[in-house]
Amino acid sequence: MLERLREEVFESLLELPKNQLVTMHSGTVSGRDPETNLVVIKPTGFRYDKLTPADLIVMDLEGKIVEGHRRPSSDTGTHLYLYTHRPDILGIVHTHSPYAMIFGVLGKPIPPTMTSAALLGGEIPIGGYVPVGGEEIGAEILRKIGKSSAIIMQNHGVYTFDKTVWKATVLAAEVEDLAKITHFAMLHGNPIILTPEQVAEFQQIYHTLYGQ
Ligand SMILES: [Zn+2]
Repeated sequence: MLERLREEVFESLLELPKNQLVTMHSGTVSGRDPETNLVVIKPTGFRYDKLTPADLIVMDLEGKIVEGHRRPSSDTGTHLYLYTHRPDILGIVHTHSPYAMIFGVLGKPIPPTMTSAALLGGEIPIGGYVPVGGEEIGAEILRKIGKSSAIIMQNHGVYTFDKTVWKATVLAAEVEDLAKITHFAMLHGNPIILTPEQVAEFQQIYHTLYGQ
């Protein structure tokens, strides 16, 4: 079922350890099929190096499993909440990537110090602390997200979203890259932060000139 989406979620999951965005079992990727509204998501507590596309779980937006024999990610409630309330989102990536989480444990947004931040919507906002499990994380994300495609949830982790699973995966790597450079820059002084005009200008360039 949903072979292509399953493959895309699988390939994206493999990128997380490869890019040092997750440790051992942490992190989740999911994708929503716009025609059936079915969601493909990672199983909970599963080793990335043992994962195959067949281990992924297919469920509806109510969380009813329609294919798969494993327990779904503990982050499933958040993903389903976001898909239900934001029909434009077709892919979600969740990590605890370490440089981004330096900002997450300080309760600080990541400022747009590089043009790549424009891809994420400018400053990456910070969401308040919410216990893991229910729909509250999703609700807090939607309260704080604004026009951003990424958010750092205080003391927990990073969420990125986009129109495809792969794009959300690229954004997860971009968040970590931006966080790493900003973190080291802050050790040397005050990084130069792009103005909203500069962010908008780069967004314009990106949307018209970049990509195949
Ligand atoms: Zn998490």
